[in-house]
Amino acid sequence: MKMQKYHIDQNRRKFLKGFSFALGATAFGMPLLSLASDQAGITRNKSKRYDSTSSGVKKLGVALVGLGRYSTNQLAPALQETEKCYLSGIVTGTPSKAGLWQKKYGISEKNMYNYQTMDQIRDNPDIDIIYIVLPNGMHAEYTIKAAETGKHVICEKPMATSVKDCQQMIDACNRNHVKLSIGYRLHFEPHHQRVMELGQQELYGPVKKIEAADSFVFQRDPSSWRLDKELAGGGPLMDLGIYCVQGAIYTLGQEPIAVTANFDEVTRPDYFDEVEQSIKWQMEFPDGAVADCSSSYNDSASRLYGKAERGWWELQPSFGYGGIRGRTSDGPMNLPNVNQQARQMDAFATCILEDKQSRVPGEMGLRDVRILMAIYEAARTGNKVKIG
Ligand code: NDP
Repeated sequence: MKMQKYHIDQNRRKFLKGFSFALGATAFGMPLLSLASDQAGITRNKSKRYDSTSSGVKKLGVALVGLGRYSTNQLAPALQETEKCYLSGIVTGTPSKAGLWQKKYGISEKNMYNYQTMDQIRDNPDIDIIYIVLPNGMHAEYTIKAAETGKHVICEKPMATSVKDCQQMIDACNRNHVKLSIGYRLHFEPHHQRVMELGQQELYGPVKKIEAADSFVFQRDPSSWRLDKELAGGGPLMDLGIYCVQGAIYTLGQEPIAVTANFDEVTRPDYFDEVEQSIKWQMEFPDGAVADCSSSYNDSASRLYGKAERGWWELQPSFGYGGIRGRTSDGPMNLPNVNQQARQMDAFATCILEDKQSRVPGEMGLRDVRILMAIYEAARTGNKVKIG
């Protein structure tokens, strides 16, 4: 069954790669521009177009690329709650979805694209932001394609399946003078923002220890792209463990300097013959803090814990779309659960309107992919891998 789907994916990928090859020839040859200076200059040029929106008159149009689970169940509903942007277009390879979405969300015929026609978005004033919600292995190709239309881009996590791809995505956005943001929704979530304050402002003294786990039992179709090395880039580490890496970094406000890791035993080889089933890793930070992390497709966990000199905090569940609960050594956090995706997309729209850099830019996505690759190397070799 897996082979059969893989075959279909391969054909689809070949077709998709065919038309991006020509794109790559022009997209990859330019030097990296300084993000700060470049984006400031560029969006100043573009800002004329948004003058009226800064007074709240016009909302920015978002086109979702890839109408899978996340687009369907989270992003499209969130775009009904956003204040500064709205769902204006779609890009899909599945004609039946196009019809359903058009009906459900009243999307205009001229704002509907497939992967072959997506480059025509450059001529569509209804679309300001292109949001890439495709399998991980397709992020680079389609982010670059989106940047080439001159529209701002959000790319889902993990940013890509290699550091090189991440850099090419950043280069393409810089060269086309568009902003790039990663779908890191938890930066806009109150419990996680509280953890950032507690850790980074050392409200309980310096942080000594972090524990993070994000896992679920994979029971979906074994032909899923998430089990395909080329399309997913890896297993639960790429999909879920990235939240543990993120959580540790924003607890501390520091980046890890070294990692050790090991893969756990594969107990379901019918599913996990290309990507890992489970992985554990440890990250060391410059000030001596250590983060113990794990991620699995054969377990249930959602926890971010920090221990500082004079107290501790814990989010559990921590990484989902809602239902996050937090407590500290002084008691419950009593913070609201919010629509994370709506906040995330509104924050990016605000960046565009006010010509500011995203709080979760492409550089952050690249940083995290570099760390994920170091974790894989540590698990493969059994060695401690230094980062940076
Ligand atoms: P799905 O498998 O549900 O959807 C992916 C969609 O991509 C498909 O429905 C299809 O849309 C399109 N697609 C195009 N080519 C292929 C291909 N070769 N194989 C499979 N799908 C293809 O995935 P998700 O929506 O769960 O995940 C998409 C991305 O979003 C991933 O990068 C994932 O990591 C990220 N994500 C982020 C989350 C977050 O919390 N930030 C949560 C969940 C996912 P169509 O039919 O329209 O062409």
